Amino acid sequence: MRTAFDVAYEGTPTWEIGRPQAVVVRLAEEGMLAGSVIDMGCGTGAHALLVGARGQRVTGIDFAPAAIARARAAAARRGIPARFILGDVLALDGPADTPPAVGGPFDTALDVGLFHVLQPLERRRYAAGLATVVRPGGRAFIVAWSDRNPFGYGPARVRRADLRSSFQAITGWRVDAVEPATLETNLHPGHVHAWLARLTRR
Ligand code: SAH
Repeated sequence: MRTAFDVAYEGTPTWEIGRPQAVVVRLAEEGMLAGSVIDMGCGTGAHALLVGARGQRVTGIDFAPAAIARARAAAARRGIPARFILGDVLALDGPADTPPAVGGPFDTALDVGLFHVLQPLERRRYAAGLATVVRPGGRAFIVAWSDRNPFGYGPARVRRADLRSSFQAITGWRVDAVEPATLETNLHPGHVHAWLARLTRR
């Protein structure tokens, strides 16, 4: 099935800023992106490659073939041994015959801009699937476009409460914090509002 993302990746998507998001660079500098890392909805790989360049084991998963192809090409060009898997993150937990073979469990998961494109009813399934690929005690960091942005453009505006209710205990997570953050895009000069959720796998 061809999605809006396949169309977006024919050109330069609005979220492609040609460098890692500052919020992710800061997480890395804080030591939060520890150990083996999985990047959910990795796109063309900027964040997975940031982690890989630090010498850590890293896997990116995305369902857009063009994004995965570009991520693999960038890894080869830069000599970074990152793995990029074509697959649907919603198939990690559920009735799919063959869940994507991401490997793991990982120490840390990162999601920059994937959670906020899911339908509200998909969010808990995503949370449960994410729990299957992160080890108990591992961490996850979700950066999502927030409801503090004005209406009329962008993906779903996620509320702090949406993050808290999607990652509640039954899905395997503890929500440690949901903090104001920013995301850069090509659409807007400067930054847009986001939430950074910090989670721990129970
Ligand atoms: N993390 C990247 C891309 C963000 S855009 C970055 O920060 O640049 C959201 C990404 O999620 C897109 O690349 C899209 O193809 C991917 N995506 C959306 N739904 C998905 C799903 N169900 N499974 C896998 N990838 C998905």
